[in-house]
Amino acid sequence: MTSQKPGSPSTPHRPSQGNRDFRNRTKRDKKLPDDHKNIPRGAPQHLAGSITAQPAIHLKAGREKSLLRRHPWVFSGAIERVDGAPLSGDTLPVRDASGNFLAWAAYNANSQITARIWSWHEEDSIDAEFFRRRIANALAARNELNLADKSNGMRLIHAESDGLPGLVVDQYGNTLVMQVGSAGAERWRDICADILQQLCNPACIYERSDSDSRGLEGLEPRNGVLRGVLPESVEVIEHGLRFKVDVAAGQKTGFYLDQRDNRALTETLARDKDVLNCFCYTGGFSLYALRGGAKSVLSIDASGDALRIAQENLSRNGLDVSRAEWLEADVFQALRKLRDQGRSFDFIILDPPKFAPTAAFAEKAARGYKDINLLGFKLLRPGGLLATYSCSGGISADLFQKIIAGAALDAGVDAQIIHYLHASADHPVLLNFPEGAYLKGLVLRVEG
Ligand code: SAH
Repeated sequence: MTSQKPGSPSTPHRPSQGNRDFRNRTKRDKKLPDDHKNIPRGAPQHLAGSITAQPAIHLKAGREKSLLRRHPWVFSGAIERVDGAPLSGDTLPVRDASGNFLAWAAYNANSQITARIWSWHEEDSIDAEFFRRRIANALAARNELNLADKSNGMRLIHAESDGLPGLVVDQYGNTLVMQVGSAGAERWRDICADILQQLCNPACIYERSDSDSRGLEGLEPRNGVLRGVLPESVEVIEHGLRFKVDVAAGQKTGFYLDQRDNRALTETLARDKDVLNCFCYTGGFSLYALRGGAKSVLSIDASGDALRIAQENLSRNGLDVSRAEWLEADVFQALRKLRDQGRSFDFIILDPPKFAPTAAFAEKAARGYKDINLLGFKLLRPGGLLATYSCSGGISADLFQKIIAGAALDAGVDAQIIHYLHASADHPVLLNFPEGAYLKGLVLRVEG
């Protein structure tokens, strides 16, 4: 995250269950909070139970409710005692206060999310065959999406939402990038890599398990080849546009696959417009806007590395360089500067990193979203469009819309919502895990 500038909200990066965590990897950002940091640290509050008893997690009375609704996390505070002497990563049964079986879960003594559910079925064995079935299911679901003619990049495994808490796998052509973010997934990492190798036969499986949140799970960062050899150049070809993916050092797993559909929408809205793309990373929205016939596109990001790749991507696609301008800057400051210079735009895109990893950050994050959106509204010409996103798990779609409404009010503009947006279909949301719906967006048109 960026260090706080006076008066400017924090801009923490995105992440967790494989979401958009690791967006902002500038060194300054390192100090900012990560997704569990609002949860009090320290030893989990539950008691160790009998060491000789069968290993099991016993919940406090009444704390089984979220599990009965099939929410896949058990927080430390819900646990009465842990029997046996399990190690982090071990599979344990979770039982209610009367001893009834609730689920099989991966235990992690070092995390406030002390157990993540593998299965609700007592008859299941959590073994290699179990992971093969889960992975094969996730792959079959992706197959049914028929994305192949849209992109060679897709999220193959989306953690909790695919029944594999802590495991994220993104595909870029014949390279798979794997993120392991929980003790349970860590335990089964090699088995899962073998299964992926067998089922997908990629040239390389690369591991990007280097998010800050791994530390909170008591796991060491890891970044390197797991299987095969990393091709010299990895690229994603999305709707015919080619983007270089820096698998080893880029943000997250290298590319933000979740915005695929929203980038395509941008192309249809950009004709003849002066576009401002804030938090542009490697130029995703910018390239689509240029191909869509934008008159000009000014793109801003704090990461020089991302901007260098963005410019490379521009020439890779033979797009008109003269219509594109790139600015390495802090968006909070840059928007103010543009306002002071009296600049204005027809179409503004705001796709910031995660400001609120969890609800505990919501208030602070709300100030950040309001700030950039208010400035965005002020920089829009009459009849202009604002495409605004939040990838904060801690900000619901409803709250996000309220924040944007407040920003429009303060900017003195009337606006209508013309699109409600979310992540692409290869990022499914498990019905009982609303945290999975981290990405939300609105396209608004201000009064002409
Ligand atoms: N829209 C992009 C993804 C954006 S990710 C796409 O479709 O690919 C968020 C980006 O915000 C990252 O590139 C990160 O470097 C940048 N960023 C984070 N904090 C910033 C700040 N304060 N000012 C400018 N850029 C910032």
